[in-house]
Amino acid sequence: MSILKVAQMGHPVLRRVAEGVSPETLADPAIQRLIDDMIDTMRELDGAGLAAPQVHASKRIVVVEGGDNPRYPEAPEFPLTVLVNPTLRMVSEETAEDFEGCLSVDGLVGLVRRPVAVVIDAFDRYGKPLTIEAEGFTARAFQHELDHLDGVLYVDRLVDTKKLFFRDEFRRYGRGEEE
Ligand code: ZN
Repeated sequence: MSILKVAQMGHPVLRRVAEGVSPETLADPAIQRLIDDMIDTMRELDGAGLAAPQVHASKRIVVVEGGDNPRYPEAPEFPLTVLVNPTLRMVSEETAEDFEGCLSVDGLVGLVRRPVAVVIDAFDRYGKPLTIEAEGFTARAFQHELDHLDGVLYVDRLVDTKKLFFRDEFRRYGRGEEE
C-alpha cells in the first residue's frame, strides 16, 4: 500500500488534458499499481473520489467511492468504482447547486452548479466496458473527477466566488444561518 502525494492547485499537471489509456497498457503492472495506490490514497485522505492527474499521473483514470467519512458525513453509499477513459454519454437538463471540496484544493469548499444525473461510459481496470448511471451526490462526484481529466477544477465552475469558504468557516457560516 502506498499513499501518494496529491498535487495542489497551481501544479501544471492539474491543468493538462490527461492521456487515454490503451487496453494493452492496462495489463501493465505499473498501471495496476497506480490504480491500487489511487484507491489507498483516496481512502487515507477521506476523499469521495480521486483522478490520476491529482497524483501526478496524467492519465484518464478515476476512482470513486461513496460512504460515511469525516470529510463527507452525509455521503450516500456508493461502491468502489474504477473508471478508465470515461466519457459522459448523458447529462440531465435539471441542475442543482451544492458545495464541493477537492483534495487538490485543500481546505476549501465552494458552491458549484451541475446536472443532477449522468450516464457515463468507461472501461473498468481490466478493460471491460461498463456504464454507470448516477444521480445526486454520486453524479456530482463523478462529474468532478471527470473534470480533472480535462484540466478543470471545481473552482473554475463556482457559482459565485463569494461562495468559496475555508472548511472551518463553512461549518460556521456556510449555510448562512449564523452571522
Ligand atoms: Zn478534485
